[in-house]
Amino acid sequence: MGRWIEVGDRAWVRRHAELDLSLGLVVGDRACLVIDTGAHEAQGAEFAAAIRELTGLPWSVVLTHSHFDHSFGTAAFGECPVWAHPACRADLAETGEAQRSVWAERYREQGRPQEAERIAAARLVLPGRLVGGTADIDLGGRLVRLAHPGPGHSGHDLVAHVPDSALLFAGDLVEQGAPPSFGDAFPSAWPAALDQVLGYGARTVVPGHGEPVDTAFVERQRAELAEVAELCRAAGAGEIAVAEALARSPYPEDFTREALGRAAATA
Ligand SMILES: [Zn+2]
Repeated sequence: MGRWIEVGDRAWVRRHAELDLSLGLVVGDRACLVIDTGAHEAQGAEFAAAIRELTGLPWSVVLTHSHFDHSFGTAAFGECPVWAHPACRADLAETGEAQRSVWAERYREQGRPQEAERIAAARLVLPGRLVGGTADIDLGGRLVRLAHPGPGHSGHDLVAHVPDSALLFAGDLVEQGAPPSFGDAFPSAWPAALDQVLGYGARTVVPGHGEPVDTAFVERQRAELAEVAELCRAAGAGEIAVAEALARSPYPEDFTREALGRAAATA
């Protein structure tokens, strides 16, 4: 079950204890936009029902990226426009089944068979409205701008900017309550993606996991990611040992190790 936090005029975040996940909703005069759909159809259905308590307007969905916890609930929203970066669609098509088996297995190992079964049963929906750069979604009386600020947490992150409320849904490009996740990241490009995000001028930024934050938080995370990017560069160039990179990193060892691996793979 989730709980709502209001983050602006007719804009909300649905917070979940599981994975500290944050899903978004922006409502206009004629339509609403759903930002990410949760880890499986049951979570998507609970989210959809909660939205229907706030508005009866037709919805469209935007997926910030392809990771299961953001995209596997989409089928619960039925026939509707689903926006995403073209590489998000490609990645869901390519890795969706692997994500399903890895995460279902992980939840089984944790002694949580119901969660595992829900992930195993989720019908994957491939986005049909593709945006590689920017796209404005007219909700009636207000616009939401979708934008790809470059590779960062994944190769295809999309953010949803609501200019009339100085509000931005950042997906996992920003993470509160835990270090950023590097499993599919582009560590050397991530700081520049956050420069783009900061350039949109939002005052409230909603991360994909954790509580809404202000721009000072995003600036700090950008500085930490720049430190990690520099450590990855220096380690990759042989200027410092891996052990030194791990010791100097602002993030825990396992996160930094993953960043080093991804930096080498994406160089
Ligand atoms: Zn993610």
